[in-house]
Amino acid sequence: MREFIDKLSASVIEIVYIAPHLDDAALGAGATLRSIAKLGRDVSVVTVFCGEPDGIQNNVQERKKEDLLACKELGITATHLGFLDAIYRRDKYGKHIYPYLSAVVEEPAKEDTLLSELGYALSSFLKEKVVIVPAGRSRHVDHQILRKVCDEYLEPFAYYDDLPYFARSSIALVSFNPNMPENAVSVQVDEDALKAKIRAVKKYMSQLEFLFGSNDEVGNIITAYLNSTGGEVHWIK
Ligand SMILES: [Zn+2]
Repeated sequence: MREFIDKLSASVIEIVYIAPHLDDAALGAGATLRSIAKLGRDVSVVTVFCGEPDGIQNNVQERKKEDLLACKELGITATHLGFLDAIYRRDKYGKHIYPYLSAVVEEPAKEDTLLSELGYALSSFLKEKVVIVPAGRSRHVDHQILRKVCDEYLEPFAYYDDLPYFARSSIALVSFNPNMPENAVSVQVDEDALKAKIRAVKKYMSQLEFLFGSNDEVGNIITAYLNSTGGEVHWIK
């Protein structure tokens, strides 16, 4: 389905993909991003949950650097917002809202009061842009929350598959099924876009073992997955 890219490219306003975490957009739509950029269009990825928590050891800075390198491979720009990842968020008493890794794949906690704050921030920032948002198929609470916020506060042009997995077995990658528009398309991936996507994904060094088992497997797993789906899956509203 090449028309998706042609349709997007014909729009005169800026194209923005929204990602929950550093790596989600490249994993779900890296080849599409590359294809749009190659047509000379300004396209960027806004990653929401990459704030750096105070006073706690973390690798957010390192992950932001990886993201900049990945976006360079795709020919797109990266914007990093300062919202904290679920594992770092605290309630008003300073207690971690999701104290265990398993908790981030449950329903969003009621103490997690992020929704309206995030909604206002995104809607003012993304006004008058073509916005493509994550489908929210990963059970991770950040994906669920972002999908909800995007539906409530933005007018998404389309959704991309944020669970393109390839997945190694992992609790964080368990799928759940949010309502999706009927119109699902597989955006075809040409050779250049496939290579760029693989190069980009490999820049997320800190995540590769978790996602793919090893660096050597990245190309094979991505290629096999895209062959099975016919491209990067998007749902058009
Ligand atoms: Zn994510």
